[in-house]
Amino acid sequence: MSIEVKKTKSGLVLTKTNQEPSNSKGWQDRYDINCPYCLEGFDCAPSIFHMMGAYELGGGSCPSCKEMMEIHFHPETNSMTTHKAVRESVH
Ligand SMILES: [Zn+2]
Repeated sequence: MSIEVKKTKSGLVLTKTNQEPSNSKGWQDRYDINCPYCLEGFDCAPSIFHMMGAYELGGGSCPSCKEMMEIHFHPETNSMTTHKAVRESVH
């Protein structure tokens, strides 16, 4: 994340130099994760669920082995972890 800090008469002005994050912590565009199945490394954008605060509702499939995984976001470390999708998929 890149933020420019400028001092003005009225105080500090923070200018974000990249895309506007949708939360106050500032989202990265991409987070490095590893596939829990084949351990392939790739990166992942935060999901809409992550941005709404449902940090454990992310999910996706591995670009390498195509297995489904859960992607959890951890705001305290600003990172993501992946977990094998164990839940039965219900549609
Ligand atoms: Zn994989």
